[in-house]
Amino acid sequence: MKKPTIFIFSGPGGAGKTTLVDKLFRKKPIRRAFVKGISFTTRRIRPGERGGRDYFFVSKEEFLKLKKKNFFLENEKVLSDYYGTPKYFFAVAKREKKDLILCIDVKGGMYLKKNFKQARTITIFISAPTEKELQARLKKRIEAAEMIKKRIKLSKKELQSSRYYDYVIINQDLSTSLNVLEAILLAEKFRRE
Ligand code: 5GP
Repeated sequence: MKKPTIFIFSGPGGAGKTTLVDKLFRKKPIRRAFVKGISFTTRRIRPGERGGRDYFFVSKEEFLKLKKKNFFLENEKVLSDYYGTPKYFFAVAKREKKDLILCIDVKGGMYLKKNFKQARTITIFISAPTEKELQARLKKRIEAAEMIKKRIKLSKKELQSSRYYDYVIINQDLSTSLNVLEAILLAEKFRRE
């Protein structure tokens, strides 16, 4: 039987990953063939976000308890919060003969690529067109100035890891990026193992 594929989307906050994935899942051929993983996180909910749709928001205690129970496919600490992908979504994808899309950080992405052999992994790095643009997008988020600084620093580090990714998309124009992404997803789906 063909192994499911996990498509790992990484890239700095503010590059437009979430918008792109949300828009992808509005397309029927994508919904029919892919499952989107929803992560658990200990970070605070942002305005406009909804628990169970964007993330499952939990306390640090709950997160660590789940981690101990082996609940996660992978989990990482990003800046000062924990993030983890529940195994559940992989099971659903497998059962429904679909592929899985995860938006996770570079460390989590590289971890899965190296260690998770029950799936084929395809990595896609999404980046903002310029550093200036990225900073502007990050600043639009309501977060403490200190946190924004930390995120900018992290994004520079993550950008260096983009060379390990199978695909790199510079998200200059949303609809172009969307078309490129859809083409990658569908072409990879038909690739021989
Ligand atoms: P944000 O707080 O901006 O939503 O996410 C911060 C970083 O955590 C982003 O790079 C995002 O992709 C990553 N992230 C979200 N969920 C997960 C997860 O389940 N595992 C890992 N390793 N990273 C995640």
